Amino acid sequence: METKIVEIEESKVKEKAAEALLKEAGAVLKEGGLVAFPTETVYGLGGDALNKESSCKIYAAKGRPSDNPLIVHICKWEDIYPIVSEVSEEAKKIAEAFWPGPLTMILPKSDLVPYETTGGLDTVAVRMPSHKVAQKLIEYAGGYVAAPSANTSGKPSPTQARYVAEDMDGKIEMIIDGGEVGIGLESTIIDLTVKPPQILRPGFITQEMLSEVLGDVEADVTILNGDSGQAPKAPGMKYRHYAPKGDLTIVTGPQDKVVEYINSEVSKAMLAGEKTGVIGTEEVLDKYHAQVVKSVGSRDDELSIGRHLYTILREFDDEDVTRIFSESFETEGFGQAIMNRLLKAAGHKVVRL
Ligand code: AMP
Ligand code: MG
Repeated sequence: METKIVEIEESKVKEKAAEALLKEAGAVLKEGGLVAFPTETVYGLGGDALNKESSCKIYAAKGRPSDNPLIVHICKWEDIYPIVSEVSEEAKKIAEAFWPGPLTMILPKSDLVPYETTGGLDTVAVRMPSHKVAQKLIEYAGGYVAAPSANTSGKPSPTQARYVAEDMDGKIEMIIDGGEVGIGLESTIIDLTVKPPQILRPGFITQEMLSEVLGDVEADVTILNGDSGQAPKAPGMKYRHYAPKGDLTIVTGPQDKVVEYINSEVSKAMLAGEKTGVIGTEEVLDKYHAQVVKSVGSRDDELSIGRHLYTILREFDDEDVTRIFSESFETEGFGQAIMNRLLKAAGHKVVRL
């Protein structure tokens, strides 16, 4: 299959040319095809959420296990009613506070949503993205777009269209290139079918922000803990994920000790013939002597760390780095999302100094 790649800037969605392309993409989705598109979190791989064949095609294109449910994207609030069996007060409150935006809620599903979309579950994950390209595409597609991240299963989620093309070229009908995404990590997932509500995946909308609106909110213990012995509640979170090809170790401790340790491990790895890489922060970057040293951003700017993480993991793949060391980050606020993804990328391999 030939994949058509088109460019649409978020600021230009209302222009005639963009509108024509978005209508074309919407028609592809309505006909059961797949279109990758930008959102404010990462690129999504869209299919008609109410068409079971489309969902099956998404799993096939990603190589994703079919028990790993898809998030259904909507573009206006009323559209939630047909796809869930009940809209709780909590759902209304957090939609009011955070939609459109990087928050996904789990609710009991209605019969309209095929089990192929929900990975066999009786619940459905729903999100209303704020990205204007995504919103228009969903509208033209008929209102319901199932969209996991547009990467091959197990690889870091794409933050740029070229990474989507790397994984999806030839497998899907269309890719909409909307430039680099803003947040760079996937949406926060909150399960509203349990009491108190539980965060299944941390993201830009933090536990603190959700607690302000809902009161008591718990977080799945597996988010930062690799040896809890429990299975994560979001089926997708149990899989090794976001992983670069190289072997990644996180090093945590006092900053100077971390630099010293990483440099000594880098030297050993280089002697053993490995190509080494470091994920470091701006403040200490020039102290590392690995072959490839990448700045993930400044410690004072968590947003830039979140935005750069997946891009850097992909770049290490491009440069065939075989041994990677990363600094470690705060586990509060948005830092929880950053560490959750980094820990999964490292298969929870952490050295504590
Ligand atoms: P992705 O779309 O690639 O960001 O992955 C979607 C994530 O949402 C996966 O981790 C899924 O397991 C999770 N998810 C989707 N639907 C549900 C659901 N009904 N219950 C729990 N987790 C879900
Ligand atoms: Mg994903």
